[in-house]
Amino acid sequence: MSAQQTIHVGGEWREAASGATREILDPASATPFAVVAEGGAEDTDAAIAAARRAFDRGQGEWPRTPVAERAALLRRVAALLRRDREELGLLESRDAGKTLEEGRVDVDCVADAFAYFADLVMNENGRVVDAGSPDVHSVVVHEPVGVCALITPWNYPLLQASWKIAPALAAGNTFVVKPSELTPLTTVALIRLLTEAGLPDGVANLVTGPGSTVGARLAEHPDVDLVSFTGGLVSGTKVMRAAADTVKKVALELGGKNPNVVFADACTDDDGFDTAVDQALNAAFIHSGQVCSAGSRLIVEESLRERFVAELARRADRIRLGRGTDKDAECGPLVSAQQLAKTEEYVASALAEGAVLRAGGTRPEGPGYEGYFYRPTVLDRCHRAMRVVREEVFGPVLTVETFRTEDEAVALANDTEYGLAGGVWSGDPGRARRVAGRLRHGTVWINDFHPYLPQAEWGGFGKSGIGRELGPAGLAEYRETKHVYQNLAPRPVRWFAG
Ligand code: NAD
Repeated sequence: MSAQQTIHVGGEWREAASGATREILDPASATPFAVVAEGGAEDTDAAIAAARRAFDRGQGEWPRTPVAERAALLRRVAALLRRDREELGLLESRDAGKTLEEGRVDVDCVADAFAYFADLVMNENGRVVDAGSPDVHSVVVHEPVGVCALITPWNYPLLQASWKIAPALAAGNTFVVKPSELTPLTTVALIRLLTEAGLPDGVANLVTGPGSTVGARLAEHPDVDLVSFTGGLVSGTKVMRAAADTVKKVALELGGKNPNVVFADACTDDDGFDTAVDQALNAAFIHSGQVCSAGSRLIVEESLRERFVAELARRADRIRLGRGTDKDAECGPLVSAQQLAKTEEYVASALAEGAVLRAGGTRPEGPGYEGYFYRPTVLDRCHRAMRVVREEVFGPVLTVETFRTEDEAVALANDTEYGLAGGVWSGDPGRARRVAGRLRHGTVWINDFHPYLPQAEWGGFGKSGIGRELGPAGLAEYRETKHVYQNLAPRPVRWFAG
């Protein structure tokens, strides 16, 4: 396989039909370090046709493979991911700009997801329904949906692809995956591991290329039965529109503007204060804030604000930026020049609208910062009318708002068109549970931020998306449900007399 053969169709590695290629940039240096095929509509059609053949006619009969064999393959993939942890973690770090340790943790989460769906699919096998007659045998069974189009973003490339691929395969589907054009390398590596694990040709297909051609074609194509998309709100709505004509199943995992609500009673002693500040930093700045569930809105009780924000800003200023593979680096660069420019523009607009800069707000300078670095930024005195509070920045920018009462805290936390995730910090368990119950977000963490469990559903309310990944619902996305009603003693109905 040459470096440019990154399109996988029916078990073969290919270059783009047009011969076009794309350079992949290292975001820490803004220089190219890999070349991939720049696929287009022709490549996409070929990949869909291969997935369709593998689903309809067999080629190894994946949809009809016994569930235990499908589960065994997923477990082999989990083992291969653990074997290649270091290599994959490094590749993800270079491609997406995250620290090496984050890259490794991503691989662990991905292996856990494959293992989880292997176990789940063995235990979720339909049910017998009591039809009210001993002469009827009635069962509800699950079947694969068909050909799945899986479209993923650049912030967690391997992880986002795997949260789709593992359940799609567990359920017996075939698929075409399209990674972000900025970060395709670990998805290419994952497809190689699926082949090594013994997945039949044609089941897993991959097209590297842009969203406007490859992604759009996948979303509209009549031979695709389901499109599962993770990415931004604007692209997500385009995918939904494109999928409408053929009434595909649509799953969308979109953005977030996630509140982190801190009550003063969480910080009554030094340990509580230190923990809440530390986790607020982690919530906002891990992976330079390029996380759909980043706690990018700090909503802190007014009486605690000054002390909390002062310590937060002090620690934000000390976050060590650097290339992900540098052992001292705590935060890497942003993924692209475009993402850096967008972040700068949001900070400028916030300052123009009256926000007070408490930390960051600039690019770091000097050797080692040639790439797309931006300093962790804390913006105090923010309010709902500001764009930076309403819209997803997807960079290292934390806004601060304050509240006086529990009702005010809930109202602020819910005042977003998104609804992906949120945190509540309180020393009063009753209050914490009460507030969590009122938040309109798909995940609520109490006295924590950012844990993800493969057995717990992930997804959003509102414009954060449609459907869920992970957990039993994450498998259900990739299954059709069929009711089979068998009459064991058929007789005429005599509805019609004649
Ligand atoms: P993006 O929407 O620009 O791109 C996502 C993917 O969609 C890419 O593969 C892209 O090529 C493709 N695409 C673009 N236009 C398309 C079109 N018209 N038709 C089909 N495909 C198209 O998003 P991004 O900038 O790569 O990622 C950042 C966004 O992803 C953020 O908004 C973030 O919140 C979101 N995200 C959400 C989750 C979640 O679980 N909810 C997880 C990670 C990222």
